[in-house]
Amino acid sequence: MQSRKQIFIIEDEEDIAELLRFNLSLEGYDIKTFPDAESGLQAVLKESADLLLLDLMLPGMSGLEICRQIRADHKTKSLPIIMLTAKGEEADIVRGLEMGADDYITKPFSPKILNARVAALLRRENKHMPDQSSDIMINNVQIHPGRHEVLVDGKKIDLTHSEFQILHFLAMRPGWVFTRGQIVDAIRGENYAVTDRSIDFQMVGLRKKMGSAGEYIETVRGVGYKFREE
Ligand code: CA
Repeated sequence: MQSRKQIFIIEDEEDIAELLRFNLSLEGYDIKTFPDAESGLQAVLKESADLLLLDLMLPGMSGLEICRQIRADHKTKSLPIIMLTAKGEEADIVRGLEMGADDYITKPFSPKILNARVAALLRRENKHMPDQSSDIMINNVQIHPGRHEVLVDGKKIDLTHSEFQILHFLAMRPGWVFTRGQIVDAIRGENYAVTDRSIDFQMVGLRKKMGSAGEYIETVRGVGYKFREE
């Protein structure tokens, strides 16, 4: 029998922590809540959580700092983390994602969204990362890294090296939001000219060349981009 997944919650607002606990308990998870950064961080580093819900605005230590410390510890460096943020805190979301958080939920949130995000992240953790060289097929888009080739509706489209790398990077993890900085890091290497800003221009070109399939590449306002998960 599979044991119940343990979800830790670090959230100083009692009613929000309670709402999280209530909804996630109904889904069959074991929940532990921590009202402050210090006790939460200690528990995460010592015990074995399966997933962490982390409020960014905490007294004492910020959620971003907690995230950094969790990622710096070899035992917890791949612990799934979902940040809890207030609406309008896109800059914090971007920093959190770049600090290693996997996803975020903006408050106020619906239980449906919460449960879906948690389940999706736990599911992802069970799946191995696709191989860099594996072919990817999503809807009418086929990506062949070995041949450096992209087909839409069976027809080859002509992409620049950077456009190909960006598309491949996003399509390897459909549904994940990546910041411009993360995309730059992922495709850098031989191509040092790439900047955060130029990513936006690359996206325009990429979408145009992909035709109707270009809509799979979604802009997440103030945060970055994702390949839409079907
Ligand atoms: Ca808070």
